Amino acid sequence: MNTPREILAANLDNLSDKDRAFADSLLRARYPSDKQSFWIAKLAERATGAPPPPRQTTSIGSLAAIKALFDRARAHLKHPAIVLNVDNVGPIKLSVAGAKARVPGSINVATAAPYGQSTWYGRILDSGDFEASPRETTPPALTSKLVCFAADPAGVAAEHGRLTGNCCFCNRQLTDARSTAVGYGPICADHYGLAWGE
Ligand SMILES: [Zn+2]
Repeated sequence: MNTPREILAANLDNLSDKDRAFADSLLRARYPSDKQSFWIAKLAERATGAPPPPRQTTSIGSLAAIKALFDRARAHLKHPAIVLNVDNVGPIKLSVAGAKARVPGSINVATAAPYGQSTWYGRILDSGDFEASPRETTPPALTSKLVCFAADPAGVAAEHGRLTGNCCFCNRQLTDARSTAVGYGPICADHYGLAWGE
C-alpha cells in the first residue's frame, strides 16, 4: 500500500497551482512534522479526489470601456461600483476586485445586497470572458446585460438610474430632473468622468 507521501508525489498534477507549490514544499521535508504529515495526507486526498469541474465561461466582449469607466472613478473613489438592473434577477452590482482578491483587477458580478448576503455570480476577466461561479447558474438575462454593458457602459448604467430613480453608481435617490435624465447625479458624473446637466 502506498503512503500518503507517495500518493501525493504521484498525483501532484491534479492539484491547483497554489496547492502544488505547498505540496512541493511538504515533500521536500525529509522528516515531516505532525503538522506537515497532516497536510501531506490532506493534499494526497485532495489530489486523488474528483477534479473540480472546469468553470463555465461566456465571452462578454471587450472590457476596455468598462475598465476606462472604473479607472476614472478610482482616481476619486476607493471602491467604485455600478448597479445594473437585470430582468427577473434584480439589481446586480459590478465592482473591481482588490489587490488581495483571487483575480485582482477582475470585475466581480454579484447581487446588490449587503456584504455577506449577496449572491456572487462570477467575475469578468481581462480577456473579456465572464467566468461563472461554480455554485450558481448564470441567468441568461445577466449574460446579455453584461454584453450590452461592455459595449456601452455609461448608457447601460444610466438606464438603471432612469428606471429606479436611484443613481446607478452610489444608489442614492436622484432628486433633480437633470440627474434622472442621465441616470446618475452630478457628483458621480464627476467621479466617473461623464456628462451631466447639458
Ligand atoms: Zn451617485
